[in-house]
Amino acid sequence: MSLQIKLKEGIKFSCENNQTIIEAALQNGVFLDHSCLTGRCSSCKLKVLSGETVTESDELPLSSEEKNQGYILSCVRKPISDIELEAEDLSQYGFSNPITIPAKINTIKSLTPEIIQVNLRVPPNQKVNFLEGQYLNVLWNGIKRSYSIASPTNSSEIELIIKNYEGGAMSAYWFEQAKPNDLLRLEIPKGTFFLRNHSDKDTLVLLATGTGIAPIKAILESPSTQEKLKEFNRVIVLWGMKFEREIFWKLNQDNVEFIPVLSRESQPKHYIQDKLSDLKINWTNTVVYACGSYQMIQAAKKRTLELGLNSNHFYSDAFVASN
Ligand SMILES: Cc1cc2nc3c(=O)[nH]c(=O)nc-3n(C[C@H](O)[C@H](O)[C@H](O)COP(=O)(O)OP(=O)(O)OC[C@H]3O[C@@H](n4cnc5c(N)ncnc54)[C@H](O)[C@@H]3O)c2cc1C
Repeated sequence: MSLQIKLKEGIKFSCENNQTIIEAALQNGVFLDHSCLTGRCSSCKLKVLSGETVTESDELPLSSEEKNQGYILSCVRKPISDIELEAEDLSQYGFSNPITIPAKINTIKSLTPEIIQVNLRVPPNQKVNFLEGQYLNVLWNGIKRSYSIASPTNSSEIELIIKNYEGGAMSAYWFEQAKPNDLLRLEIPKGTFFLRNHSDKDTLVLLATGTGIAPIKAILESPSTQEKLKEFNRVIVLWGMKFEREIFWKLNQDNVEFIPVLSRESQPKHYIQDKLSDLKINWTNTVVYACGSYQMIQAAKKRTLELGLNSNHFYSDAFVASN
């Protein structure tokens, strides 16, 4: 039996038996905020205004207060009646539906002892569309892992920035076996992390830990986002790493304030969330994009809301584990 899902703004689409809300939306060309699709990152959190849903996951990222208020994770929730949701359809931003394509490794470069840059090439006749900030899935030998795209959409190669996770199945491949011309498969593009239009806002704050700098690099370097970036009076990047020597990328743009936050070069250790109150900005007129560690994202969200940020102006992409 098919059920109906309605968004507050009036858009309606149907949901087939056993589909999650996100699956039904994507099938109907409706793009709701999402990322990991496994109920871990909380990008797909939204409020149910009416109707009933069920979940097979514990929805651990939601607090009991949020659950009581009707918030759910739409990537693991299935409707059992017609429902109405407080959610925005993002399809106006020009998302492409994901495709699965072959890709070969072009180059592998060491950026730090724990991080490599992998450049991939796709067949010359293969058109690849994504919005800067989105991620892709790499499929190799029965393993699937997500990586943010670090290069702009018009590049001839797709650049990934990959960390070595101890004992990691895919890390073992990247750091011990991978070589130029290896054949992989990609599911591209994925997720809804991208720079929206904020012409009424004064300041853009971009937060990253480790390889979380990848989508921020794509957003800042892309010719297609420059108009949106120019709308802000200030663009500030805070990038959390352990040591100065690990800062493998720096933006050469005068209009972007670049602040490395080096946790092991300070006593006591400080992290991104500890530096936010040092920024002399009007938080009510600011938007924040955060990427990388789930812990940093949660702590930074809490801190920025305390400082006066509107909760609708915090966007994030958490690099959660796949298992
Ligand atoms: C939307 C998204 C974008 C991502 N983008 C990137 C990226 O640009 N660069 C990048 O290096 N990684 C990124 N990741 C993480 C990546 O998908 C893998 O989780 C990571 O590379 C580890 O895979 P693995 O097979 O080596 O480890 P696994 O075999 O999956 O795990 C090995 C061990 O490491 C732990 N672990 C795995 N992943 C993480 C994690 N993310 N955080 C903390 N502990 C972990 C596991 O719990 C386990 O103990 C992203 C994840 C998501 C969801």
